[in-house]
Amino acid sequence: MAPHYHTLLLAIGLAGFCLSATLFASWMSARVERFLLSWSIGIGFIVPAVIVYSVYVEHPIVAVACLAFVLQFLGFAFIYGAAYRFRSGKSGRQRIAAVFLACSAIALPPLASGYDGVGFIALNLLLAGCLVATAREYWQGRAEAPLPLTGIVMLYLLTAVSFLLCAGVLIHDGQWVMGHAPENWAENLNLIAAIMGITGIGAMSLALNQWRVAGNHQRAAMTDALTGLLNRRALFDTYGDEPVKPHTAAIAFDLDSFKSVNDRHGHAAGDAVLKVFAEVLRDVCGTAACAARLGGEEFIVVLDRTMPERAQRIAERVRMDFAAKLIPIGGRSITCTVSAGIAMGGEDCASFDSLLSNADKALYISKRNGRNRVSLAA
Ligand code: GH3
Ligand code: MG
Ligand code: MG
Repeated sequence: MAPHYHTLLLAIGLAGFCLSATLFASWMSARVERFLLSWSIGIGFIVPAVIVYSVYVEHPIVAVACLAFVLQFLGFAFIYGAAYRFRSGKSGRQRIAAVFLACSAIALPPLASGYDGVGFIALNLLLAGCLVATAREYWQGRAEAPLPLTGIVMLYLLTAVSFLLCAGVLIHDGQWVMGHAPENWAENLNLIAAIMGITGIGAMSLALNQWRVAGNHQRAAMTDALTGLLNRRALFDTYGDEPVKPHTAAIAFDLDSFKSVNDRHGHAAGDAVLKVFAEVLRDVCGTAACAARLGGEEFIVVLDRTMPERAQRIAERVRMDFAAKLIPIGGRSITCTVSAGIAMGGEDCASFDSLLSNADKALYISKRNGRNRVSLAA
């Protein structure tokens, strides 16, 4: 066997080891993105697989080949499992086991019974299949981060093609029984593809992890932790800077006598009431409106392209649904009400601040008139 072949194998082993360690360290620092852990375990099996295989290249003993096969199947099953976990968020343990067992059951018998060429053909086809299945998982989840994910899919598919070529050459040459490791141009190409694949995919997986972490932070910064609605910052990021379009409606909600809920039933009960109100807002408004918690027991709903009648209907629905809710607190149920004020964007109300201030004035009218009602700004 040419010495460069061993150099390439060594390169794969080293690249794999370094990446596996890097991904493991990234996982250790966050402990959230478990797909990184599965991936580093997968590469962690491929590194010894490469070492064992290079032993087999020099000493073609069947048992050594079997060990290299088993390690590769384990490695590729975990790499597939990482992709499945990335897309679905589920552990994929059973899938990893199923892939590993199926691959071993297909490729090991011919290898062990003297048809090593058939075994290598099966190995290459199965690994190509694992890689295509892996690429498919990332492709299905590509909406999250189109650029790195498309790159990852391409690299997996390219590596899969290089395995297919290895199988194709053996089939074409009718190499059913060889007595040694396959030697042909496709094998060399496969090693180069593997080095590119491992390093490229590793780097992009790290980028993907960063992408996810940044996305989670961004979402957290825009979300009200108690209710899961948008927070004040998100509301002003969306509407604060631009002039308000005509037919934009803002509904200000403020829970009635909320201080007494806290005083009578405790702060935790108050929090539970706030969550129930947020649920009502979500149910009534759906995705047609932007609902945010401004702070405390004050909420804002912004409706684009809306007539005052529609805004009024929505505010009334929220008011009535909330008043009808029995909110379980410490073994019994309480009810609570909400007041609302509606303002419309227009010539005399062109900034978001003035829209909110008009809605607030209308809300004050509802409060003054006895609460649990909706008022429209003059
Ligand atoms: P009104 O009908 O006039 O609106 O009376 P109110 O009692 O609702 O109004 P007030 O502004 O006096 O009280 C608001 C209360 O909301 C005071 C504060 O303790 C409570 N609060 C603000 N934020 C939270 C929160 O996150 N959780 C809970 N449980 N209470 C909160
Ligand atoms: Mg208030
Ligand atoms: Mg209040």
